[in-house]
Amino acid sequence: MGIRVGIDLGTTFSAVARINPNTGKPEIIKNSFGSAITPSVLCFESNGNILFGEDAKNMQAVGDTNAIAFFKRSMGKELFSVEFYGKSYTATELSAILLRKLKEEAEQQIGEKIDSAVITVPAYFTHKERSATIEAGKKAGLDVISIVNEPTAAAFAYGLNEKDTEQTVLIYDLGGGTFDVTLAYINKDEIRILGSDGDHELGGKDWDDCIARYLASEFEEKYGVDVSDDPEMVSALLVKAENAKKQLTLKDVVDIPIAYGTVRGNVEITEQIFEEISQFLIGTTKDVTERLMESVQIGWRQIDGVILVGGSTRMRMIRNYVKEMSGKEPLSGVNVDEAVAIGAAIRA
Ligand code: ADP
Ligand code: MG
Repeated sequence: MGIRVGIDLGTTFSAVARINPNTGKPEIIKNSFGSAITPSVLCFESNGNILFGEDAKNMQAVGDTNAIAFFKRSMGKELFSVEFYGKSYTATELSAILLRKLKEEAEQQIGEKIDSAVITVPAYFTHKERSATIEAGKKAGLDVISIVNEPTAAAFAYGLNEKDTEQTVLIYDLGGGTFDVTLAYINKDEIRILGSDGDHELGGKDWDDCIARYLASEFEEKYGVDVSDDPEMVSALLVKAENAKKQLTLKDVVDIPIAYGTVRGNVEITEQIFEEISQFLIGTTKDVTERLMESVQIGWRQIDGVILVGGSTRMRMIRNYVKEMSGKEPLSGVNVDEAVAIGAAIRA
């Protein structure tokens, strides 16, 4: 018999976690690159092989049209299908392929068979989208123990349900392509979702776009070459932009080498400029958060804690903004990009 895992099947990144049999504690099963999270990207090759994760994302970065990402957005939509080498795939089938790859890689990493999983979904997923997720799990050879809401899983990861108190928490999840905000009531018997809202067209990708646009315009100003019409160059700039964004969470300035044709140059970006060019994106998260609080009639003073979830909450401007908006230091102790998978493992 195999073991049980928790799987965060994300729009841009996925993660697998289990309970460590020796320590009894939940932990992420790292992928073969040593990363806790794996890009939710597939790339179909002419020989029938399918790349996933980092390998597929690298192909997408060089503009390979046989690479596909963001298919979680189309879960349960019958009309969505994509074709690669004469075979068409629904979002459920793409998710099944990704889940199977994640499962197999995790099995390799821990040297054990995995037979069942708790898979997480956004709180706003409809019955149809949830069913599609269960089907994807089954197709991947997994016994799907249950489907759990992502914010609920995050609350589990923080162990908030183990406390002998009642709490109302706000779960602020800014991922790669979506923003979700949830209010939950937690006591030792239950984690009850009071309401959730979001903007499913807002995520880390938008911050990458801001940096990529900045890099293109600075490069043009400095070297007199416009790269914005070259799709391959735009893909390459987006990869550089995402890397620069991640570095800016720790460094105040990043220098980015850019080569185009015979021109070899570099463009510098500082955290301050980054915050200025992307400031307009943050306000949306505040509007959505306040809309939710209004709809469930809860004010900041009634909120006991804020949980940050999603890789994009690593950005300094987001942390500062949430602190300012809520008047509270967010809860800490769990990695923002691991919390959902960890919570799912606890549930499993
Ligand atoms: P998903 O939306 O699939 O749930 P995640 O929660 O893993 O994905 O968030 C992915 C996003 O987080 C990506 O846009 C990625 O660039 C961003 N991200 C990851 N690490 C950092 C970091 N150190 N600084 C800023 N953004 C980050
Ligand atoms: Mg997520």
